[in-house]
Amino acid sequence: MSNKIPEHIDDKLFTVKYKCDEETHLKPNQEDCKVCKDRPCTYCCPANVYSWDEEQNKTLVGFENCLECGACRIVCPAKTLDWKYPKAGCGVSFKFG
Ligand code: SF4
Ligand code: SF4
Repeated sequence: MSNKIPEHIDDKLFTVKYKCDEETHLKPNQEDCKVCKDRPCTYCCPANVYSWDEEQNKTLVGFENCLECGACRIVCPAKTLDWKYPKAGCGVSFKFG
């Protein structure tokens, strides 16, 4: 087993496996997103799940990459981010070691 420390988070994310659900388990309240100061979900997520789309005036959600850490739910100032685990059998699985 290698003790080499990854230089970038992408090196670790490469070891994560996903089984994608067809529907999102992460649903921002788009009305709150429009007036959200700083939109912290767009920079707190380690997997870059959220991005703000100026043209569509909405938060886009790449839920397929979610690591289920829960950080976005905590930082959302409106507390209206509808956050659930993916349905049974779907979601992320981590490889340790
Ligand atoms: S932090 Fe919450 S309200 Fe703000 S953009 Fe993200 S989901 Fe929307
Ligand atoms: S739970 Fe974690 S990985 Fe998933 S979207 Fe929220 S911050 Fe990103």
